[in-house]
Formats: sequence, structure tokens, C-alpha cells
Amino acid sequence: MAKIIGICNQKGGTGKTTTAVNLSVFLGLAKKKVLLVDMDPQGNTSSALLSSENNNSPAKTNIYHLLIESQENKINQALETTKIPTVFVIASDVSLTGAEIELVNIEQREYRLKQAIAPVKDQFDYIIIDAPPSLGLLTINVLAAADSVLIPIQCEYYALEGLSKLLQTIELVKEGLNSTLDIEGILLTMADFRTRLTMQVINEVKKFFPDKTFKTIIPRNVKLAEAPSFSQPVYFYDDRCVGAKAYFNLAEEILKEKIKGVYDGKKSSWPGTGSVDSQKEEQTAVYYG
Ligand code: ATP
Ligand code: MG
Repeated sequence: MAKIIGICNQKGGTGKTTTAVNLSVFLGLAKKKVLLVDMDPQGNTSSALLSSENNNSPAKTNIYHLLIESQENKINQALETTKIPTVFVIASDVSLTGAEIELVNIEQREYRLKQAIAPVKDQFDYIIIDAPPSLGLLTINVLAAADSVLIPIQCEYYALEGLSKLLQTIELVKEGLNSTLDIEGILLTMADFRTRLTMQVINEVKKFFPDKTFKTIIPRNVKLAEAPSFSQPVYFYDDRCVGAKAYFNLAEEILKEKIKGVYDGKKSSWPGTGSVDSQKEEQTAVYYG
């Protein structure tokens, strides 16, 4: 039975899609069977993993059809393969923009995603869902379907802005729609360890959520930002960059086990061990050659 993790933050550009894509890839490289569901009409997750090069026959069924139309047996037609044999994607496209309004008149509108993925839940170890930057019905569907929520927070001014609204929404969903919904963790992203601001945000988030903040912190890393424009997860774009290593560490933290066979033999030659200080060194090395 898959563990379903929703990646949510209604604030835009906090690293949700980057996290959904790269976490799924490392879970897949750890030989877990992963389904990545793109619930954002922007379709960035889909385009980061489904390059036209290795996906020349995109599925005719995508998440929009699964949410809005009759769901019988449709999900298998929506599963798209990726470069990693154990990672599958359900794509989205702009038609999902209309779904928010169309869902309003559909029965059990908050549970459409949950119902849609139910038939394949047994086939996967993890189902990762990338949510859009809003707290509308699409995100409510993610929260109603998920076992846990991973919240990426960007290390910047106003980092915590809107977080209380998100936590309030999670509480409401727990009361009404999904009583077992848990918080997987808060993930600090785009950290620039050389700045005082980043260190302040890290300390503040850890103070508020001492047990819920991931140890892994994702550094600001230009390779992470470049990789999607080549329709590549970062591991295939530059497997040695600090961004790749950070998402590898996150996957290990979520799995609560070491991932073998991915960086074996390579990792020992890397500087640092993932602590803030060593990441600072690594990051500086990346930035200044
Ligand atoms: P949206 O709310 O629009 O869906 P998002 O929360 O999914 O955004 P991303 O798309 O993952 O955020 O990231 C926003 C931008 O920042 C993208 O251009 C992405 O490539 C870039 N980015 C994400 N993480 C990092 C990082 N650690 N270092 C550098 N750039 C990053
Ligand atoms: Mg996104």
C-alpha cells in the first residue's frame, strides 16, 4: 500500500515542483515504485520528467480527465513512463485550470483525486502529489487524498507568511475530510548559507517546528533551476551538484534508510557531510568554482 505524500504550500515558487520531481526520482533510484501526480495546471512537474524525446506518445488521459470525467479504469491509461523504470507520472495540463470550477458541481468533489488513485494504491510504494499554489479545491483534493503533507518553505523574507493559513486548512481537512492526515515535515529550500537571512529563517522555522523540520536543507543551486529547462531531473542533469545531493539526503530521511547503489563509491569524494557548515563550504565551492 502506497504512502501518499502531498507537496503543498499555497505560496508560489517555494520549491514544491522541484521537490516533487527530485524526491520522486531518488525514491525511484532507491528501487521504490513511485507515482508522481501533477495537480498543478502549470504542468511543470509533467514537463520536468516527460521530455518529448522519451515520451513521444503522451497519454491521452491526464489528471484533468481523472478528476472530472467518469473514473472507471481510466487511471491505467493515464500512467506515463519515465527514464526511471520504477517512476510513473500522471500529467496535468492547462485544462486543469477549469477543473477548480467544474469540480464545484461534482458529487464528492473533495474526494475525486482520492477515488481516482485508489485503484493503483497497491501498485506503488509512494505516491507523491505536486499541489498548485492555492488553497482551492485542487489542493483540498490533495489534502483529502494524502497520508501526509510535505511543506517546502523558501529561506527568504516573509518565509512564514501564509503558513498559519495552510496549517489551519490542514486542521480543517483533518476535522472534516481526512482525520489521519499528518505533517511529513517542513522542508527549507533555496537556502543561501552565506547570508544571515537564511540562517535567521532556518532558526525561526526550527524554533516553531522543532520536531517537524527536516534535517536536510535544500541549498540554492543553479543546477536545480537549470535542469527543468532540459526536461531533466537534477540527477540526470548533474548528479554531482549540491542540489542533487540534497534531494538524495531528503529521500534517505523520508525512507529512514540509506540508499544503496546510487552514489556508492562517488559520495566519499565529496566534501561535507550535509551539516550546515559543510553545505556552506560545498555551496561556496559551487558558486566560486
Ligand atoms: P509554483 O508555486 O509556481 O508551483 P513551486 O513552489 O512549484 O512554484 P518551483 O517551481 O519548484 O516552485 O521553484 C520555483 C523556481 O525556483 C523555479 O524556477 C525553480 O527552478 C527554482 N528553484 C527551485 N528550487 C531551487 C533551488 N534549490 N535553487 C535554485 N533554484 C531553485
Ligand atoms: Mg509548482
